[in-house]
Amino acid sequence: MALSILTLCYLIGSITFIVGLKMLSNPATARRGNLIAAGGMSIAIAGTIFLYKDESGNPLHNYAWIFGGLIIGAVIGTIAAKKVKMTAMPEMVSMFNGMGGACAALISMIEFRHEVHNFGSGSGLEAIQTSSQNDLRVFLVICLAGLIIGSVSFAGSMIAWGKLNGKIKDFAFKGQHFVNIGLLILILVLAVFLVGWLPASGVTIFYSILGLSLLYGILFVMPIGGADMPVVISLLNSFTGVAAACGGFLYDNKVMLTGGILVGAAGTLLTILMCRAMNRSLKNVLIGSFGATATASGAKQQGGAYKEISISDAAVVMNYAHKIMIVPGYGLAVAQAQHACHELEKLLESRGVDVKYAIHPVAGRMPGHMNVLLAEADVSYDKLLEMEQANAEFPTTDVVLVLGANDVVNPAAKNDPSSPIYGMPILEVELAKAVIINKRSMKPGYAGIENSLFFQPKSSMLFGDAKKVLQDLTAEIKNL
Ligand code: NDP
Repeated sequence: MALSILTLCYLIGSITFIVGLKMLSNPATARRGNLIAAGGMSIAIAGTIFLYKDESGNPLHNYAWIFGGLIIGAVIGTIAAKKVKMTAMPEMVSMFNGMGGACAALISMIEFRHEVHNFGSGSGLEAIQTSSQNDLRVFLVICLAGLIIGSVSFAGSMIAWGKLNGKIKDFAFKGQHFVNIGLLILILVLAVFLVGWLPASGVTIFYSILGLSLLYGILFVMPIGGADMPVVISLLNSFTGVAAACGGFLYDNKVMLTGGILVGAAGTLLTILMCRAMNRSLKNVLIGSFGATATASGAKQQGGAYKEISISDAAVVMNYAHKIMIVPGYGLAVAQAQHACHELEKLLESRGVDVKYAIHPVAGRMPGHMNVLLAEADVSYDKLLEMEQANAEFPTTDVVLVLGANDVVNPAAKNDPSSPIYGMPILEVELAKAVIINKRSMKPGYAGIENSLFFQPKSSMLFGDAKKVLQDLTAEIKNL
């Protein structure tokens, strides 16, 4: 009976995870989807803790450890999630993802230890208690997959976390990609040797594989340019999912298996979609060092004449427009100006102006960054237009207000084949009648390249911190 209730708990966990994942694809349902998936997982976890029985019918007994770990993790996770700034979100995702990878690797280590008789005394796999060698081999394949993928994901995510918060700089040496490939081959050869030959030195080989996988994770992420880090995090996230699924195999735990596979698949799809939105191949992201080269090329400024617009002039232009499209970008998140932006939108709407938002899929620093930011300020979801819809509406738009966005509105992506962002689909704001660009200076955006949009006749620069500018604009329009 207990087992069937536990199976039901796992079924609920799996179904809610799938439903939650589906709901995450729409900003209107994302928050609820997250809660539904978390609720289902809590049921699955509680079921495991209280209803699980091992082959001899014994329940779990080490409750102090289990609840100690749960409480510490929950407190740290809650504080971290509450304190994190919107701009530091990718870092936190990376850190959490790394922890998932570490868990998967630890599961493999613990299960290996359970299987190896007299662990630590130097005895090898010949002493393993598993009944048949074939069972042992199957076990080892899954265990090693979890170990390798989990530890690569952990080490890589930690490097990504360090790079995103500026603690670790890009590091590459000549021939690094060959070293990485060599390392990967060595790991695979050792794994095949361990599974195929079950050598006496099995324990040593197992831990050598762990060490080499950690090293591979570090070297794999080290040379990748900062701008590509969110793509790498998404890829590592899919690794963690696969590693967790291996844990599900080891424990014969269906919900872990389903969850792991779904995370693995979702992470892979997200990686592909991000690459597509940036018009890059995954290979190019992994070995192209886009961020590094782009920043270097950004050093050469082309210059040109641009015109500035004052707050009062911008207020007049916007107050008398029929249709305004706001293009949010990374700078809006930096300035934490989402509430000020919503205030301006409401004011303009009350004056009869049709205001919408044009959302580029890679605006900001993580997928959905702008959706999350604007949702925080209660901006209505039906005001958010996806890139294709927005591009179709720009020709009938009177004013585009670009708020802290740069690369995602850079025409070089369309007309400069030498540009590092050439081919990336962009928001074609220059099709509107007038474009007002708010940023603090003429500095380039994340790709490190100059933006010819700023020098076009219909563009005007409105310099200043986005929050202050939006507050001033609102105050000015109120006076009109
Ligand atoms: P960008 O990084 O291109 O530009 C942001 C602009 O905001 C800067 O030019 C900066 O100019 C301005 N800014 C910064 N702080 C403020 C502030 N307080 N007030 C006003 N403006 C400010 O951002 P985009 O959103 O246009 O583009 C995102 C970039 O990130 C793309 O290159 C994309 O490929 C990349 N990327 C995004 C990923 C994602 O998933 N979203 C993943 C991987 C990469 P100034 O300093 O002059 O103020």
